[in-house]
Amino acid sequence: MDNCIFCKIVAKQIPATVLYEDDELMAFNDINPVAPVHFLIIPKKHIASLSHVAAEDAMLLGKMMGLAPKLAEQAGCGLTEDADGSRHGGYKTQINTGPAGGQIVYHLHAHVIGGKK
Ligand code: 5GP
Ligand code: ZN
Repeated sequence: MDNCIFCKIVAKQIPATVLYEDDELMAFNDINPVAPVHFLIIPKKHIASLSHVAAEDAMLLGKMMGLAPKLAEQAGCGLTEDADGSRHGGYKTQINTGPAGGQIVYHLHAHVIGGKK
């Protein structure tokens, strides 16, 4: 998609700190982090927003969500559970949709935000 900043990152036309990439997905650090860990998971395919997701994209969305805990763990903010059942760590997973939802970049992305700040 022309003039889409995240499509340009997918095409390597503009740089990003890429944490993960496969045929369908990419994850890279947010350029303006709000916490020590702040990265974005995107489909390589241009989907403008969560409201533009079609039934055929269900698997893709599932893969995006499945990647979040793996990369959060690699980034040091995964959820851990002690033998006594106490929990530590964790992260926020956020998808902003539309003007009222605070969406600025119209290429579907899930924010993963963790660490203290
Ligand atoms: P939104 O409000 O659309 O959910 O969030 C868009 C996010 O994309 C923002 O957190 C912003 O910092 C990030 N962002 C915008 N442009 C770029 C860019 O060129 N590179 C990277 N890595 N992140 C970007
Ligand atoms: Zn795009």
